[in-house]
Amino acid sequence: MIRLSIPDIDEREADAVLGVLRSGYFVQGPQVAAFEAELAQVVGARHAVAVSSGTAALHLALLAAGVGAGDLVLTTAYSWPATANAIEICGAQPVFVDIDERTFNIDCDALAATCRRLMADRQSRRRLKAILPVHAFGQPVDMEAICALGDECGLAVIEDAACALGAAWAGRPAGSWGQMGCFSFHPRKAITTGEGGLVATDDDVLADRLRALRNHGLDPHAAQPEFILPGYNYRMTEIAAALGRVQLTKLPQLIAMRRELARRYDDLLADTPLLAPAVAPGADAVCQSYVARVNGECVPIDHLIAAMRAGGVEVTIGTYQIPLTRYYRERYGHQPGDFPAADRVRASALSLPLHQQLTPVQQKQVVDVCLTELQRLDAEAFRVLGESPAAMGAVS
Ligand SMILES: *Cc1c(COP(=O)(O)O)cnc(C)c1O
Repeated sequence: MIRLSIPDIDEREADAVLGVLRSGYFVQGPQVAAFEAELAQVVGARHAVAVSSGTAALHLALLAAGVGAGDLVLTTAYSWPATANAIEICGAQPVFVDIDERTFNIDCDALAATCRRLMADRQSRRRLKAILPVHAFGQPVDMEAICALGDECGLAVIEDAACALGAAWAGRPAGSWGQMGCFSFHPRKAITTGEGGLVATDDDVLADRLRALRNHGLDPHAAQPEFILPGYNYRMTEIAAALGRVQLTKLPQLIAMRRELARRYDDLLADTPLLAPAVAPGADAVCQSYVARVNGECVPIDHLIAAMRAGGVEVTIGTYQIPLTRYYRERYGHQPGDFPAADRVRASALSLPLHQQLTPVQQKQVVDVCLTELQRLDAEAFRVLGESPAAMGAVS
């Protein structure tokens, strides 16, 4: 089986983790502090607050921004459900916006239109608190446009940079544009701590609030323990931080590797019915996932995924059309057609294997298996799409 994703772990990570185990200090020790300092550097933020997951990072960032019951938060329709769940568990409501189907990122024009519509109504203006854009699959969204909109409307901007450590928009790191930037160290992200996350911010007050919220409400500065709010236990362990510190030293090489693999897929997909992902000018993407689109909507993507897996290639969908997942569909009455670009992408996007052990031969095999299965599943689809039989013959 050609695996979708494999974390890059060697003896150095193993030694670092063993060192922590032998030290007997598992929480609130030097590894987390050092990891935070190193990440603050990479992200270009004054503060980095390590937490137990990317979802915890989003939850705390929203709470720190004052998002609460009855509030509205603008976000993308196409992301991992954690993006919207973080809003929902604050008691607030996600207002979904459709995407640009070339980049998979939130459509900034549609975002501005929705935002201005909500601001024009006195009731919704009072409820609207924040914008939560996502850098989809490690490609930064236009943060100049989004921050300008946030300023214009007096809204907090919190970046879901879960997949975008090391990415940049207009030369400035993803996660450093908004008031806060949230990262994940889940095993499918560029670097991993097993589970883990981070909130980056330049704001001293927000940083203090985040530190209290992640640690039972403990005042981060008081000489004697003082609990200033009902906090969570969202701390990162020393074990995770030690692992993450070694991983972080590999970040430049991991990003270079992903870009190289992406470039190779781009070449392999040329002149096939598969559409390579587009990168917007200004975006310095890190290719957390390589998401291709099956050109046309005739082949059910879930069938293709199952067939490719049976053929020895582990693939998956791009990500989710969140408003159409059961909870959001039933709670807010979203329907197919509400976010047409996200509908089309959900129906056609395919995440291809991307990891350091993948060879050029395997990449070709991935594409070949995909094209073969596509052809087998629905030969008719290619005629509809105007695909030449000769091009197909070359790969089958
Ligand atoms: C992975 C991911 C998350 C959640 O991060 P976890 O560490 O798994 O909790 C949130 N948003 C996006 C866009 C993600 O890709």
